[in-house]
Amino acid sequence: MKIELVAVGDELLVGDVENTNAGTLGRRLTAAGLRVSGVSTVGDGLDAMIDVLAQAVRRADAVIVSGGLGPTSDDRTREAIAAVAGVPLHRDPAIEDWLRRRYRGMNRTLTALGLQQADVPEGGRSLPNANGSAPGIAVEIGDVAVYAIPGPPHEMIAMTEEQVLPDLLRRAGEPPIRAQRQLLTASIGEGVIAAMLEPLERELARDGAVEVAYLATAGQTRVKLTSAGPGGAAEVDAAAARARELLGGCVYGEAGDTLAGVVLDLLRGRDATVAVAESLTGGLVAAELTSVPGASASVRGSVTAYATDLKGSVLGVDADLLAAQGAVHPDVAARMAEGVRDLMSGTYGVATTGVAGPDPQDGKPVGTVYIAVAGPEGTIVLSLLFSGSRGRIREMTTVRALDLLRC
Ligand code: ATP
Ligand code: MG
Repeated sequence: MKIELVAVGDELLVGDVENTNAGTLGRRLTAAGLRVSGVSTVGDGLDAMIDVLAQAVRRADAVIVSGGLGPTSDDRTREAIAAVAGVPLHRDPAIEDWLRRRYRGMNRTLTALGLQQADVPEGGRSLPNANGSAPGIAVEIGDVAVYAIPGPPHEMIAMTEEQVLPDLLRRAGEPPIRAQRQLLTASIGEGVIAAMLEPLERELARDGAVEVAYLATAGQTRVKLTSAGPGGAAEVDAAAARARELLGGCVYGEAGDTLAGVVLDLLRGRDATVAVAESLTGGLVAAELTSVPGASASVRGSVTAYATDLKGSVLGVDADLLAAQGAVHPDVAARMAEGVRDLMSGTYGVATTGVAGPDPQDGKPVGTVYIAVAGPEGTIVLSLLFSGSRGRIREMTTVRALDLLRC
């Protein structure tokens, strides 16, 4: 069953409001085992809406329209659906009655436009809205199920959960649960991960039972393995085992895991603790680690030593080294990690120093980053050069620092 989403509203086209409904619906329907085959956005104009809706109805087995159901003159979703269905609008007396009572209860006048919220295309039915005034609509156009639901996100999701999703699942018939596993990796680019998985992709291409998708965010790549047909958990498990074989230690966890959580589990398992010294990340590494419940068992504490002199006075980095090399240097990262470990009596110390930009520092280009981990077996330093914005450089550094602790 192919499902298309149509988001309605001029505000979405000009970017005044971000179309979060599409993402929310996409995730929810996919998690329920349904397939979203298209998403479109259209303004409030009636002709444009009719055009986009008619196309969606031609392509899909079900269409969900969000927005344009309210009591103002720019809310024309009802008219558009009736036009595409080729039927008139009828006023639903039960909804009209409910609206009158609701408006009276709120001490508000129900205008003629407001009353139009009780209009339903002939042959369709109203979907009660427990969280707002605008009821939704469900109507068949040919053999396509069309649902109109309110635009405000909390009304949209409630109506989807309670009314649209159960209906869609009934229509979908076959057990729609699609098995999925997600392998999480850090520090290695999406292209490299894909190259490492090439043998698996070749094997999968032959029988087509499992789809592979890559989802990259700053410093991390998620490998999604989804059964292409109904069921298929065994095939997904086999593919996941093969992917783990090919990726080795690059995989830090699966859906639900976080890098910080995995690091803390490892530390706890070794009866070890960590102390953090940060420069360019300004506390992001410590924030990630302490966001995990139970972090206090393994996190000693952290220092944000942003100013160069503090790297000396607080963390004990040699003043001559700082004077000669500046704050962005591999030896400075190493001494920071050792310094914070000793200062806080941790098993490990982790440190970051670098140039987040936008301007170069001490003759080092933007994106120059050094990360050090000092542990019982010695100190290692990672020298990196990232590209991108200040935010991205800080985020990438945080991920790499956590991943270095894992290794
Ligand atoms: P209302 O009764 O609130 O008018 P409605 O169905 O007419 O309901 P719209 O007027 O289209 O909904 O949108 C109401 C508000 O909901 C918008 O101002 C916007 O803040 C939010 N909204 C609408 N569509 C979306 C969307 N696709 N993603 C996120 N927010 C949205
Ligand atoms: Mg509105």
